[in-house]
Amino acid sequence: MGSTRCGLPALSELSRLDVDTVVIGGGAMGSATARALALKGVDVLLLERFEPGHKNGASHGASRNFNVSYADPTYVAMLREALPLWRGLEGETGLPVLELTGIANHGNNPDFPLIHEALSAAGIPSEALSVAEAERRWPGIRFDTTVLYTPEAGRLNADAAVAALQASAVTHGAQVRHGARVLSVRVLGDDRVSVLIETPTGEETIVARRAVVTVGAWTQKLLGDVLELPSLVVTQEQPAHFAVRDPDIVWPGFNHAPDPTSADYDWWYTGIYGMFTPGEGVKAGWHGSGPLTDPDARTWLPEPAQLAALQRYAREWLPGTDPDDFVPISCTYTTTADSNFVLDRVGPVVVGAGFSGHGFKFTPTVGRILADLVDDSAPAPALFGLRSRR
Ligand SMILES: Cc1cc2nc3c(=O)[nH]c(=O)nc-3n(C[C@H](O)[C@H](O)[C@H](O)COP(=O)(O)OP(=O)(O)OC[C@H]3O[C@@H](n4cnc5c(N)ncnc54)[C@H](O)[C@@H]3O)c2cc1C
Repeated sequence: MGSTRCGLPALSELSRLDVDTVVIGGGAMGSATARALALKGVDVLLLERFEPGHKNGASHGASRNFNVSYADPTYVAMLREALPLWRGLEGETGLPVLELTGIANHGNNPDFPLIHEALSAAGIPSEALSVAEAERRWPGIRFDTTVLYTPEAGRLNADAAVAALQASAVTHGAQVRHGARVLSVRVLGDDRVSVLIETPTGEETIVARRAVVTVGAWTQKLLGDVLELPSLVVTQEQPAHFAVRDPDIVWPGFNHAPDPTSADYDWWYTGIYGMFTPGEGVKAGWHGSGPLTDPDARTWLPEPAQLAALQRYAREWLPGTDPDDFVPISCTYTTTADSNFVLDRVGPVVVGAGFSGHGFKFTPTVGRILADLVDDSAPAPALFGLRSRR
């Protein structure tokens, strides 16, 4: 293993360099970072513990909202950067990943005016629609408040996006290894880090100048002894796909905020998000209300009371669906206290974590930010720094 008896790295390890940058975790964020590094000409190796297309993390499935309804200028700027990057990926790979279906935001969200203002300032269109107009356009959804409609929003195909990012990374020179579980990360110096990998044939150590750690729900387990991390709460989330009654009606994406002043919403767990997933139905889910979970000991079973409440939501607010004909989904959120991401570098380790159930839309921008942290070409937005969390 090359370390001295007292645990200090051996000279041979310090002088060795197997690859410039190793990216650990081949979900959305690691795949986007490996691609961004390869596009910069960096010698990069992406390590993923499971097989392509696995469903064990947070980046699987055929649908994610590319929701643009943010009031925070940092996120709005990241969205503005993400749209052309998604289109660029599609153009390069020929794989469609983003469809602009529009998103209907409704319910009692006091931020709607701020969101409209922030989007207008950024040149992203949004408009108010009456209940009658919204129900004329989307008869599958019930509305009882004015709708903030964002036409340049839509649906991302998560599986296709991850596959396209990895394919493009390889095209630009990256190595991608599946079935390679990283057991530990060890800092050897300012510009040296070694990762110990469990492979089908035993163990292997790789020494690199930088390690990017984007392991989602496993971040605390892999990095907890290496970096001082903010609280990262891992939950098992359980949206579901509901069958549609009429295959010909049009569906936007949707976000529905409860009215905290009304007892009518007492049974709601959180706000609702959703979209139509071709071939699977209408997806709807509570946001971040799932039970705490260990990503290596998941139940994969929906919590019954939350599922019943989700069916009730479909029954009362999604008349275009059959609330009794559904398929549950299981997925993990890794949530920070303020739902802001963690994007930072400490010595040779770059971390991307805490995407708090809303990271997918920003994936190519997060990849660019983490790649820039690798070669110090640009800092991450201050909102995401580790230091601001301590
Ligand atoms: C139900 C659900 C709905 C969502 N809806 C939306 C939405 O509508 N819009 C939106 O923008 N976002 C949404 N999100 C959030 C979004 O999907 C996540 O923010 C994003 O997928 C996080 O990507 P990641 O790469 O950080 O995590 P992951 O995809 O979990 O990737 C981490 C990877 O690391 C690998 N790994 C872990 N440990 C190791 C190890 N030791 N060695 C090697 N590899 C390792 C794992 O196998 C995994 O592939 C949703 C998430 C969920 C769960």
